[in-house]
Amino acid sequence: MIRVGVNGYGTIGRRVADAVKLQPDMELVGVVKVTPDYKARKAVEKGYRLYCVDMAGVEKFRKAGINVEGILDDLLQQVDVVADCTPGDVGATYREKYLNMGRRAIFQGGEEAEVAEVSFVAQCNFEKAIGRKTVRVVSCNTTAISRVIHALDQEYGVEKARVVIARRASDPEEASKGLIDAVVLDPVEIPSHHAGDVRTVLPHVDIVTMAIKIPTTHMHLHSMILTMKNNVSTDKVRDLLSRTTRVKVLWKSEGFKSTANVFEYGRETGRPRGDIYEAVVWGDSVKADGREVYFFMGVHQEAIVVPENIDAIRAVMGETSAEKSIKITNKTLGIS
Ligand code: NAD
Repeated sequence: MIRVGVNGYGTIGRRVADAVKLQPDMELVGVVKVTPDYKARKAVEKGYRLYCVDMAGVEKFRKAGINVEGILDDLLQQVDVVADCTPGDVGATYREKYLNMGRRAIFQGGEEAEVAEVSFVAQCNFEKAIGRKTVRVVSCNTTAISRVIHALDQEYGVEKARVVIARRASDPEEASKGLIDAVVLDPVEIPSHHAGDVRTVLPHVDIVTMAIKIPTTHMHLHSMILTMKNNVSTDKVRDLLSRTTRVKVLWKSEGFKSTANVFEYGRETGRPRGDIYEAVVWGDSVKADGREVYFFMGVHQEAIVVPENIDAIRAVMGETSAEKSIKITNKTLGIS
């Protein structure tokens, strides 16, 4: 069994912890929580062992009547690998600690690429992460873009990619970050950081990304404009994307006309928190014209990187087969 600890029990950390629990080859040793809130109580109810960052945190939890097992260092003593799910740039401050204690670490997309030896999307570059000490699972947007570009590149060759990203303003519970009546250029300059980030996974891809922030919380929406090396047909692209793991093609005739329908679909599936781990492509939007390919893609930002975290854990622990790891992860998370 691979012994896993999760540092940072927020949007991503909670989901990664739950996913680790579902793996037949992993044990969730414990999670690090900062605030003694209802999520901490829920974690205890689920049987998760809680740890705090330091003794001041332990005191805070004890005063709130929530049992904790110790501090981060105590957790690190007991694990093979830590999934660092702390806020962006905080993970990097823990890097030395993890390495000094001889622990392998998975970081998230809010960190600079330099935090880890490899930036990772399972179906694109699993083999690069095998046996590494540090791996960074790239951001939600980069994960989705990499999955679809990689599939199309393998089959037809992608000459260049242009992507316009409409980003959700904040995660659902982050009311204080809310954007109410504006579309924010995020950033004003072009390209946005996503293009460089995709190249940390697919270094050869000619890609430019532009991003805006819109007043929603549930998904990002990408407008994909790709130039292939050879002519392709609409049907072939639809077929390829339908066959690509962790990409889901949804249709207008089935009621999918907006991110709201996709969000509702997630809830109907009965998955925990209504999570959608797949990059969602609107099948009707796929249009090939000579070498040009266009489509809309949705990204459930809270969920899409969860399977990558699980595969990254297996890779750093020496699993050599991407296919095998992806298959187990998909099965346990209900990804068909
Ligand atoms: P979050 O704010 O929801 O969760 C972070 C958690 O870490 C919180 O519970 C916070 O209390 C805790 N924390 C804060 N400081 C800490 C510290 N010093 N030590 C330990 N824990 C600490 O953040 P998130 O959205 O889960 O993001 C985590 C990482 O995942 C970031 O790198 C982010 O960029 C990346 N990511 C986020 C999303 C998303 O849409 N939320 C998607 C993909 C990747």
